[in-house]
Amino acid sequence: MDEPTRRTVLAAAAAGGLLTAATAAVAQTGETLPQPQRPGHGGTDPGPRNLARDRQNPDLLVPPATDHGTLPNLRFSFSDSHVRQESGGWTRQVTVRELGISKGIAGVNMRLNAGGVRELHWHKAAEWAYMLYGTARITAIDSQGQNFVDDVGVGDLWYFPSGVPHSIQGLNPDGCEFLLVFDDGEFDEDNTFLLSDWFKHTPNDVLSKNFGVPGASFSKVPDPSELYIFAAPVPGTLASDKIAGATPVSETFSHRMLAQQPIKTKSGTVRITDTSVFPASKTISAALVEVQPGGMREMHWHPNTDEWQYYIEGQARMGVFAASGQARTFDFMAGDVGYVPFAMGHYVENTGTTPLRFLEVFKSSYYADVSLNQWLALTPPELVQAHLKLDAQTLAALHKDKFPVVPG
Ligand code: MN
Ligand code: MN
Repeated sequence: MDEPTRRTVLAAAAAGGLLTAATAAVAQTGETLPQPQRPGHGGTDPGPRNLARDRQNPDLLVPPATDHGTLPNLRFSFSDSHVRQESGGWTRQVTVRELGISKGIAGVNMRLNAGGVRELHWHKAAEWAYMLYGTARITAIDSQGQNFVDDVGVGDLWYFPSGVPHSIQGLNPDGCEFLLVFDDGEFDEDNTFLLSDWFKHTPNDVLSKNFGVPGASFSKVPDPSELYIFAAPVPGTLASDKIAGATPVSETFSHRMLAQQPIKTKSGTVRITDTSVFPASKTISAALVEVQPGGMREMHWHPNTDEWQYYIEGQARMGVFAASGQARTFDFMAGDVGYVPFAMGHYVENTGTTPLRFLEVFKSSYYADVSLNQWLALTPPELVQAHLKLDAQTLAALHKDKFPVVPG
C-alpha cells in the first residue's frame, strides 16, 4: 500500500471535517505521514495524534507481523519524568512508579553543576552508578570506619552498598551527569536519609551530648530544603581531600569500566563488569554494549535475572519473546530505559546510522547470558535438524563461540 499523498491526506482530513495541526503541517511540507498500516492490515490515522511520538515508535505504530499478544510496557524515557531542580543541579527518576514492570530496579539521572553537591546521605538500597558526562568527586565510609574518596569521569562506575553514607560533587570545568541504578524498584531519590534532615529533627541537647560541644554550635545547620542538591565551591585536588590517618576501604567503591578490555566482534564491543572485576559491586552487574550501524546484539536471554537497560547513544529496536506465542517490539533512543523480564528471549538492533551504545544492568553479583546461536551449534545437528528443518549450509554457519554482537 502506498504512503498517502499530500492530496489524499488533505481530502481525507476535509472529508472527516477534521484537519489536525499535525496533518495540516505535514500536508504543507509534503512530508509523508507514518500510518498504522502494512500491506493488507491496519489503516490511516486521520484523527488526533501525537506525531512526534509516533515517529519515535515506528515498531509500536507498525509492529512487525511476528509481534503477538499482550506484554507489559518495557520502555520508559527519562524525558517523561518529572525534573526536580535545585540550586546545585537537577535529578529525575524512572522507578516502579513510572515503569510498572521494574519491581527490582530503579534508575535516577542526575546533573551536578561545577561545585554542586548531592548532600551527604544514605539509603536502604545499594547504589550503582555510570558516569555519563564530566567529572565528579565521590566520598563514603563503611561500617568499619574505613574511608573512600575518589574522582570519577566518563565511563567510570561506583557502587555504594546499602546503608553506606556517601556524597557526590561536580568538579571543574562543568560538573557532571550520571546514571544511578538502585537494587529496589520502589527506591525514591526524594526519600533518602539526609544529613541535615537528621540534625533538624534531633533535640539540641541531644546533639550537644552526642558531639560533646555546646548546643549553640548547631544553630546554623540549614533546613534540609536548602541542601539535597546545593551549590558549593569546587573542591581542591583529590590529594587535598584525603583524610590524614584514615584507613581506605578494603574493596574500592569505584571502577573504570571503559578502561576494561572489551569482547570485540566485527560489529561491536561488550564490556562486562561484575564481582569478578569489581568485587564491591555485590548486587549489581552490567554490560556496556556498542553496536555499529546495521549490527545487532544477538538473540539471547539471561538465565539469572531481569535486565534493566539504559540507552546512552544512537537508536535501537528491541524484540522480546515472552513464550506462549507472545512477542513485542519497542524502540529506543538516548535517555530511554528498557526492560526485559527474567529469561525472556531478546535482541537489540541498531536502527540508526551512528553507533548504538547501551547498558544492560542486572540485580545480580554475576553476569550471564545464553546465546541462541551457540546453543544450536552445541546441540547434536540431527536433533536441531529434526526441530527446525534447516539445510546443511545453515547448520554449518552456527557458531560454537559466542558472538554477542553480529553484523548487519
Ligand atoms: Mn545515594
Ligand atoms: Mn540481554
